[in-house]
Amino acid sequence: MSETIASRASQFDFDDVTIKEALSEANVPALLMAMIQINGDTSVLDGDIRPSATLFGDGEGDLTAVERDTIRDMALKALADFRDGDRAIPTAPDADLLQKMVDFMIGQKVPSKYVPLLQEELGISGSDSRDVKIASPNNGRAKEDFKALIVGAGMSGLLAAIRLKKAGIPFVVIEKNPSIGGTWYQNTYPGCRVDNPNHLYSYSFEPNHDWPLHFSTHDVLYDYFNMCADKYGVRDHIRFNTDVVQAAYDEDSAKWRVDVRGADGVEETIEVHAFISAVGQLNRPKLPDIPGIDRFKGPSFHSAEWDHSIDLTGKRVAVVGTGASAAQFVPEIAPVTSDLTVFQRTPPWISETPHYHSEVSDNIKWLLNNVPYYDKWYRFWLFWMTSEGLLPMVKVDPDWQSNDGSVSESHEMVQNMTKEYIASQLEGHPELLKMATPSYPMGGKRNLRDNGAWLGALKRDDVTLTTSPIVEITPTGVVTEDGIAHDVDVIVYGTGFTASEFLSPMTILGKDGQDLRQGWGDNPRAYLGITVPGFPNFFCLYGPNTNIVVNGSIIFFAECEVRYVLRCIKLLVEEGKASMECRQDIHDDFNVEIDAANEQMAWGLPGFNSWYKNSEGRVTQNWPHPLLDYWQVTKEPKATDFQFT
Ligand code: NAP
Repeated sequence: MSETIASRASQFDFDDVTIKEALSEANVPALLMAMIQINGDTSVLDGDIRPSATLFGDGEGDLTAVERDTIRDMALKALADFRDGDRAIPTAPDADLLQKMVDFMIGQKVPSKYVPLLQEELGISGSDSRDVKIASPNNGRAKEDFKALIVGAGMSGLLAAIRLKKAGIPFVVIEKNPSIGGTWYQNTYPGCRVDNPNHLYSYSFEPNHDWPLHFSTHDVLYDYFNMCADKYGVRDHIRFNTDVVQAAYDEDSAKWRVDVRGADGVEETIEVHAFISAVGQLNRPKLPDIPGIDRFKGPSFHSAEWDHSIDLTGKRVAVVGTGASAAQFVPEIAPVTSDLTVFQRTPPWISETPHYHSEVSDNIKWLLNNVPYYDKWYRFWLFWMTSEGLLPMVKVDPDWQSNDGSVSESHEMVQNMTKEYIASQLEGHPELLKMATPSYPMGGKRNLRDNGAWLGALKRDDVTLTTSPIVEITPTGVVTEDGIAHDVDVIVYGTGFTASEFLSPMTILGKDGQDLRQGWGDNPRAYLGITVPGFPNFFCLYGPNTNIVVNGSIIFFAECEVRYVLRCIKLLVEEGKASMECRQDIHDDFNVEIDAANEQMAWGLPGFNSWYKNSEGRVTQNWPHPLLDYWQVTKEPKATDFQFT
């Protein structure tokens, strides 16, 4: 039993009224699983009350109200007995029981390969199995002689720093901004929030049971990552306001020479054994290539560089783009602008999310904080319902015939449900409905979450959605192909990021001086998104083909990547090796497989553009498989995948 569970159990001293009140809002499938772990009574698994396999029902296995009440009564009794007894928690379920439990919770047979992941997520071993312990080698050297450099102090870079610190490997983090937080520092636009449930979008080892919102705003996330930096003691390792200009691999010493430039312009070279990029994919704003963009006389800015000095109250504002960022800030600014014109090139698909802006109730916080194992099962429930369970729907069924762009039977069902949702939101606005209904397959681009705010903003009298392509920006506004000149006071670009320019603007020179970004062009490839032949001891976090479209939290990916990198460093240090370089054939075979798999996903189909594809239409960004697969392949590097010196 882990310390947290033990202390929770010992402090579980609440009266029936408190427990009952909290249980009224419990997620029933997660509660059921926690009950089994608390009292060891598995009889419910063979009972008549069973959550059903539905991703789109009430989010709680579609049980009847009577069934839910029955379970809550059972849970009240179980928790009262637990409180009044010796508060001992039975031995953790073995693999067979876990399989039975997860099948029951999800309402369908879950492949047995998920059980080891579930064991890790539930913390069955009692320790953090994603931590990597590194010993000193047997050659008289100390592990402290090994040095690493991380570029970026966002979510991934901080994670790498925390793990390296725990492993006792010296490191420095180079951060271009004056602060940590990456995307959550840079993006401050109104309405900016995470679009993944927060109880999933958090480090596995640092759950926050007091998230104020189910989908927190950027400031809350910024505070969370700051708290983590302090709690795990990595802030002092970060050099802020410093850019990595170039990193070059020196074969003789098997070290990376990293040239950095501080805010004062002074340059310095740092030598390290491992060079880790954690610069993210979505941190360089992309302005559209529209003629006249520099001629506009009024204020204009990109959503990721929001100019808070500009008061939009009473202003005529143009918004270019209808992606994830615009969908968040348009509903926030529409009530204050006098007229808002939204320029749409492609309509986004929507994921109806009624609780998108909702607070987490005190009851839910209480359950997460006090009922042993409830938080873990709730997280796994979210993992399945909002991530893993969704992926099969966007996979192309080669036998599926359709004339509505759907790729499989379940995909068609979800698309139709979504069209109905859009239609219900835009009832009485037939023109708008036509413009806001996508014609490419759902999953081709990232779905936007909406609780009615986005579509509600579009139908306001003072908001106009324009689909005629922009041909020019003039000193006074935006001209569209239909000949209309839209005069405005301010232009906001919600036009995304230069995602395909991986690792820009750093110059990274590997063996024989080969330039990584030049070699990649707009066709970046890596093995597992992490390592590249010709670039020994270079590791990339959130590299090529590690983005996810419909399934999951990017923190899950980062945790997989960081474990892999730490285990690579462990190989280097403990085996006393100077360098490790991914084999070309392993890298190439991996990419052939990834490309073929991406072509079988909705986002890999031809006929529409997205930031996931390069100029040739190849998907350079996304991972096409379940998250489980990435977890499995990154658990442990295979020594045979590398050449060592
Ligand atoms: P985006 O999804 O790339 O959207 C850019 C928008 O600008 C698209 O609607 C695009 O249209 C449009 N656009 C680009 N050039 C244009 C032009 N010349 N004329 C008219 N429209 C133009 O960018 P984003 O909204 O910043 O989001 C990027 C990614 O960041 C998301 O996919 C997501 O992964 C992440 N993100 C996440 C959150 C969150 O978690 N809350 C929030 C924001 C962003 P087309 O579709 O036709 O290209």
